[in-house]
Amino acid sequence: METTILGAGPLGLTLALRLALQGDRVTVIERAAQPGGLAAGFPLGDVTLEKFYHHLFRSDHAIIELLNEIGLGDDLFWETPDTSVLVGGKPYTLNSAGSVLRFSPLLPWERLRMGAAIAYLKLQSNYQKLQDKNAADWMRPWMGHAAYDKVGGPQLAGKFGDYAQDISMAWMWARIHSRTTQLGYLHGGFQRFYDRLAELVGVLGGELHFSTTATSIRDRRGGRVRVGTSHGDIIADRVVSTLPTRVTMKLLPTLPSFQRRYDVGAALSAHCLILSLDRHLMERVYWLSICDPGYPFLAVVEHTNFIPPQDYDGRHLVYFGNYLPMDHPLFKLPKEAVLEEFLPHIKRINPDFAPEWVRESWMFAAPFAQPVVTPDYHRHIPPHVTPLRNVYLANMFQVYPQDRGQNYAVDMANWLARQLG
Ligand SMILES: Cc1cc2nc3c(=O)[nH]c(=O)nc-3n(C[C@H](O)[C@H](O)[C@H](O)COP(=O)(O)OP(=O)(O)OC[C@H]3O[C@@H](n4cnc5c(N)ncnc54)[C@H](O)[C@@H]3O)c2cc1C
Repeated sequence: METTILGAGPLGLTLALRLALQGDRVTVIERAAQPGGLAAGFPLGDVTLEKFYHHLFRSDHAIIELLNEIGLGDDLFWETPDTSVLVGGKPYTLNSAGSVLRFSPLLPWERLRMGAAIAYLKLQSNYQKLQDKNAADWMRPWMGHAAYDKVGGPQLAGKFGDYAQDISMAWMWARIHSRTTQLGYLHGGFQRFYDRLAELVGVLGGELHFSTTATSIRDRRGGRVRVGTSHGDIIADRVVSTLPTRVTMKLLPTLPSFQRRYDVGAALSAHCLILSLDRHLMERVYWLSICDPGYPFLAVVEHTNFIPPQDYDGRHLVYFGNYLPMDHPLFKLPKEAVLEEFLPHIKRINPDFAPEWVRESWMFAAPFAQPVVTPDYHRHIPPHVTPLRNVYLANMFQVYPQDRGQNYAVDMANWLARQLG
């Protein structure tokens, strides 16, 4: 069986490996010059650093198993770094029952109420009860208005902007229910994982075409499928697109009822400015969610408060992350202008910060990086089987109710490979 897979992100590469192991002749088409998709990294000395901050949770079983299977499991590093929220100009650790009870921006009884709502979400395993509810409407009465105004509301607004009032409670449930405080990272960077997957697919006889863009998917006589690419056509017995649903829809011929039902919903783009500093920005915090108003970024992630700076020749690496609509003006600004805009706000995080601390900087952006999971999202998740014979869809917009993540890409690929086998 000849299978063509569109996209060499975590999903496409895992699927390619599984199908190649099952005996398929696999061809992978990838627009970028390297494997890894949104989890790809760039070289930094002897290692790589993700273009967008990445870590694993202890509950990410599928990817941990795959890392073990391909011999990288021993290089996983587990730690409980500090994850905090910025409220009233100060960072407060907020990652455990104890930290909720110590969270001084709230009165003691408000903390208890917030803690009780979190405990309920941890214990509740039936997310369907919550999925048609709006997270803002659920959290205000359950967590209490003070906790919502200081933490829950600003976090929703930071992540989803204008869509914040229309996010499914199932999305919030999954973040609280499934995530662990212990976080994992692959020594040397996750790029190693994707390079290894690509290498293994090659060893099994698969072909990987990088810097090649898929431009169309058409059916051919006899049930075969033709993929148009920037480097010519490829004919296969079947095609699996791991590109976002909206992107895949543009490649397919017109399929009116399929597109009407499933080509709906919004997505946000990701933007990250990364600074290499000559010292710490934050004393202890790895992850800082900005809950105060007026910041031009939603999270500050000091990677080297999780993975030691020694791994990066002493660099202190800090991400300033955003999810924004694809037409946001930030995406048009050059790195220097973004840095200029961010500098006074970085000083709000640490008043001692001076631009002279910055040794190097990088900036990355990616479209279709975060689905906007509204309460009716689940009604518009397309099936893996499309109306075009032998054409399948498997992408992070079908991950539900969990927020997209490398683990869920691996899990979906494992599942689909079994179905196609
Ligand atoms: C800011 C940010 C932070 C994140 N943090 C984490 C984290 O901490 N932990 C975690 O596990 N996950 C995290 N994720 C999510 C994780 O990156 C994704 O879940 C994962 O990459 C999804 O894999 P995928 O293969 O489904 O999609 P993608 O990674 O998007 O891969 C799709 C691939 O298709 C390619 N492509 C697109 N169009 C075409 C075309 N026309 N032709 C050919 N190729 C094409 C793309 O170049 C890409 O390589 C984060 C994501 C972002 C944006």
